[in-house]
Amino acid sequence: MKDLFYNLLIPFSNRVAAFSSSKLRVLAYHTIDDPYLFEKQLKYLKSSYKVIGIFELEQFLFDGADLPKNAVLITFDDGDLSVLDFGLPLLKKYNMPSVMFVITGLIDSKKTFWCRWVELAIQNQGKSYAEARVVVNRLKKMDNEERVAYLNKLEPIVSKQLTRNDILKMHSEKMFVGNHTHTHPMVDKCTSEELQGELKTSKDSFKNWGLPGYQIFAYPNGNWDAKSEKILIDNEIKMAFLFDHQLNKKDVNPMRISRIRVNSDTKLHEFKVKVSGLHSKLMKFKENIT
Ligand SMILES: [Zn+2]
Repeated sequence: MKDLFYNLLIPFSNRVAAFSSSKLRVLAYHTIDDPYLFEKQLKYLKSSYKVIGIFELEQFLFDGADLPKNAVLITFDDGDLSVLDFGLPLLKKYNMPSVMFVITGLIDSKKTFWCRWVELAIQNQGKSYAEARVVVNRLKKMDNEERVAYLNKLEPIVSKQLTRNDILKMHSEKMFVGNHTHTHPMVDKCTSEELQGELKTSKDSFKNWGLPGYQIFAYPNGNWDAKSEKILIDNEIKMAFLFDHQLNKKDVNPMRISRIRVNSDTKLHEFKVKVSGLHSKLMKFKENIT
């Protein structure tokens, strides 16, 4: 049913794509669960769009350079190992640049990304995944101090994380390493001091690694507010990415760059509709189309 739905939308999405060829599209992935479909997506992007890197976007935003028509930037959030293992080799194969937004406090650690940590801990108590997600979503709405207090009471769960060498490898292979805070708090639930602390520690991490990505930021969970944006600007962040499932307008604000949500296992028809921008338009009318 879902396949048929997206199939029917293809002619319309082609028209939307052609009509909005001058708009920047930024794709937001998290993990590479299906390398086979991900490769199909990359082949499609290669044939129908122009994949750009962060430096081309920077020159467009700050130096008055033109963007190529049908420009797409590929991004990943959270530093999942599957992106290094399965995504990077494919991006390399098709010679495509990309951006990985890392949670700096996880690099070279054995910690578990907190959303995953809560999911595992709750399921270890015999609850279902759905029940665990309810708790994660509740934590996302709490004041940061309260969320941290909850996490401090959980049993630690060990995970394998990206190492410094991994991110240096990514950087050398055209996967730019950007900033996704130090611990992935919801920035709109942080006090000014908490957010400044996050930025300071992530800045130190980038400095230690000798990488330039501190100033290129993605909002955890896409949570944006005006107060946080001001703090980011005051702390030298010059580009910030949202998670709002929209294309960018021509006069894109560098501190509010829209991104389209996609997954590596999104089937090609659905992927085409999402990248075109048609899905974003439909979402405005109907929240439930996934
Ligand atoms: Zn994230």
